[in-house]
Amino acid sequence: MEKGLIIAIDGPAASGKSTTAQLLAKKLGYLYIDTGAMYRACALKAKKLGIDINDEESIRNLLDFIDIQIENDNSKNRILLDGEDVSEDIRADDISSLASAISAIPAVRYKMVELQRKMGEKGSVILDGRDIGTFVFPDAEVKFFLTASPEIRAKRRWLELQQKGIDKDFSEVLADLVKRDNNDSQRALAPLKKAEDAIEIDTSNMTIEEQTETLYKIILSKLEEECKCS
Ligand code: C5P
Repeated sequence: MEKGLIIAIDGPAASGKSTTAQLLAKKLGYLYIDTGAMYRACALKAKKLGIDINDEESIRNLLDFIDIQIENDNSKNRILLDGEDVSEDIRADDISSLASAISAIPAVRYKMVELQRKMGEKGSVILDGRDIGTFVFPDAEVKFFLTASPEIRAKRRWLELQQKGIDKDFSEVLADLVKRDNNDSQRALAPLKKAEDAIEIDTSNMTIEEQTETLYKIILSKLEEECKCS
C-alpha cells in the first residue's frame, strides 16, 4: 500500500477523542492532528486582540494575518499561534465556548479546513474533531463517531479541571458542555454529526485503554483488507 489511511474521529466534547487519537497515532506511527486546537487558537487570537466573537467582519480580517502551526512531539500536538506555543493557553475554560462560537463563522471554517486538508492529504494520519468524516475528509478510509452520556463527559471534564486546580461546579460544567454540543450540532456549515458510514462507539462505560483497543482492532482489520485488495 502506497499511502497510509486517513482516520477520522468525530464526536461531542469530552467523548475521549483526542486521548484515543493520540494513543492510536503512537501505536500506528501516524500523524495526529487535533483540529479543535486550531479553532481554539483562532478564539485565543480574537481574545488577545479584544475582538468580539460576534463581530464577523473583524474576525474575517483577523484570518488574513493568523499563523497556526501544529508540531508533533511524540504524538502530542504542540500548537503555535503566530510562532508562540499556546498549547496550554488554548485549554483555558473560556476558550472552549469562544472556540465554539468562532467555529460557526464560515470564513473561519474554510480557512481551518484548508489547512487540515493540506496537513492530512498525504495519509497515515488521524484527525479528531466534529466534521472530519462529514466535511474535511468525506472519503476517509476509517471513520469513528465517539459518544458518551453528557453526565459522563461532564464528569471527565470536571475531573480535568480539578486536576488543574480549577474549582467549578459540576452542574456548570455540564451546562456549558451541553450548550457547546448544541451550538456545534446546530450551526449551518459542517455541524457536529455522525457521517453515515462512521462507526459509532459509546465510550460511557469504557476506559481509555478499552476504547483505544476497540478502535485499534477495527483499524487493523481495515489495513488487512486494504493489503488484500492492493
Ligand atoms: O475538540 P475541542 O473541544 O477542543 O474543540 C473546540 C471547539 O472547536 C468545538 O466545541 C467546536 O466548536 C470546534 N470544532 C469544530 N470543528 C472541528 C473541531 C472543533 O467546529 N473539527
